[in-house]
Amino acid sequence: MCKHDFPTYRGQMEYVCLSCGARHAGDELLYTCPQCGGVFLLENTRFDELKAHDGAWWRDLFDRRASTRTTALRGIFRYYELLAPILDEEDIVYLGEGITPIIKAAPALRDSVGIPFAYKNDGQNPSASFKDRGMACAFSYLKSLVRRHGWTDVLTVCASTGDTSAAAALYASYVGAPLKSVVLLPHGKVTPQQLSQPLGSGATVLELPGVFDDCMKVVEHLADRYRVALLNSKNSWRILGQESYAYEVAQWYGWDVSSLCVFVPVGNAGNITAVMSGFLKMLELGIITGLPRIFGVQSAHADPVYRYYAAPRAERQWQPVQVSPSVAQAAMIGNPVSFPRVARLAAKFQELGGEKAFQVVQVTEQQIMDAMIRANRRGHIACTQGGECLAGLINARALGLIGPDEHAVLDATAHALKFSGFQDMYFNGSFPPAYEVTPDTSLSNRPELLLDAAKKQSLSPAEYTRAAAEAIVRRLGLVKK
Ligand SMILES: *Cc1c(COP(=O)(O)O)cnc(C)c1O
Ligand SMILES: [Zn+2]
Repeated sequence: MCKHDFPTYRGQMEYVCLSCGARHAGDELLYTCPQCGGVFLLENTRFDELKAHDGAWWRDLFDRRASTRTTALRGIFRYYELLAPILDEEDIVYLGEGITPIIKAAPALRDSVGIPFAYKNDGQNPSASFKDRGMACAFSYLKSLVRRHGWTDVLTVCASTGDTSAAAALYASYVGAPLKSVVLLPHGKVTPQQLSQPLGSGATVLELPGVFDDCMKVVEHLADRYRVALLNSKNSWRILGQESYAYEVAQWYGWDVSSLCVFVPVGNAGNITAVMSGFLKMLELGIITGLPRIFGVQSAHADPVYRYYAAPRAERQWQPVQVSPSVAQAAMIGNPVSFPRVARLAAKFQELGGEKAFQVVQVTEQQIMDAMIRANRRGHIACTQGGECLAGLINARALGLIGPDEHAVLDATAHALKFSGFQDMYFNGSFPPAYEVTPDTSLSNRPELLLDAAKKQSLSPAEYTRAAAEAIVRRLGLVKK
């Protein structure tokens, strides 16, 4: 492909309110419906023009774009036409997000689980979670607004369970003026690694007592009344960016996903919304010819979406829940903002792919931790939410929801390192009782100090090297050459 391969196609984006059906032009930043307060999905009103080409043409285009040298198309915008085809090349922010590897389960792990599966390592994004996909799109859109309006001062705000703020702060600090980033965190409810990220990016970090749901209400209050740019997943531009996950999965599997089960941990439910939306768009364009099956996974400590779908259809009633402490802290949300989006897209998924095309499984905190530790002992880099996905797969299989000829893709939504504190608690047996996790001590792993500092003091450097080596020989039972 030549150097100047940025697409010339332009669509037209509209916000569609999922409650009252109102439509609003996509050239201004809106979060919720001014008429009724409902959440939006963005729609390209010129989507049908894309049907001038058949599925094979699109597959070929996206395959060829894999080798592009045009920076703007190297990440999530490889799928430009399916995301936000109103952006100009100069607006697109690329920090290396997307195109994350899909890693087959290690043979021993696969055999012990009893079904072939793979992890898609979204922890290998720049801020180490999938949130970068959405932020790349939201910040590109914001850049285009700044350029068109000549804005001189834009305050971006988000509430976060940790990863949204890390991503928002990273992209804001890269783009720079006139963007400034403020993040609002529930005090003590994000990991030290996640807290260090917005601090390191130079964002203003504000904390409040309570849980994520409390912080979310506060930023919504602000966004309704003051001039701030909200970057939570109420911001539909983020959903568009996160659709790239579905496109990448389909492309990796040669655009044949009909025997695939895609597992996604559900917190605020933006990610699972995006994943379903992405697959539906590909189906509509003939890029894929059958849908995969989508499995949402929730912990019993934060499971409103599971409860909704577990009820018989006629009795389903949406009910937020009070959350309890969860190791899947990034998904510890009792009142997911995107539930109306999930309800809409899940219905569509089931209409086109059958009743079993969308399901939600529940897992315990114990299962999440055991699964994460097991996976990582076999060479994976799953975070607790990635552990949640594996626990979901194991439960789905035990419930007979998955057939022997199916293949699962699990979303490792963040890097293991962000959640290493939970691994520490597992290994040290120091989980507070509220988590309801009892470590399997056969899996625990701790450093062993071979010599103490006083001993080192008493030895010459040469003696010390020999004493340390001998201690290792004894510990490992090494045999002489
Ligand atoms: C945000 C997040 C989730 C939950 O995603 P939602 O879109 O809120 O459902 C899961 N895992 C990680 C690591 C996250 O950062
Ligand atoms: Zn409305």
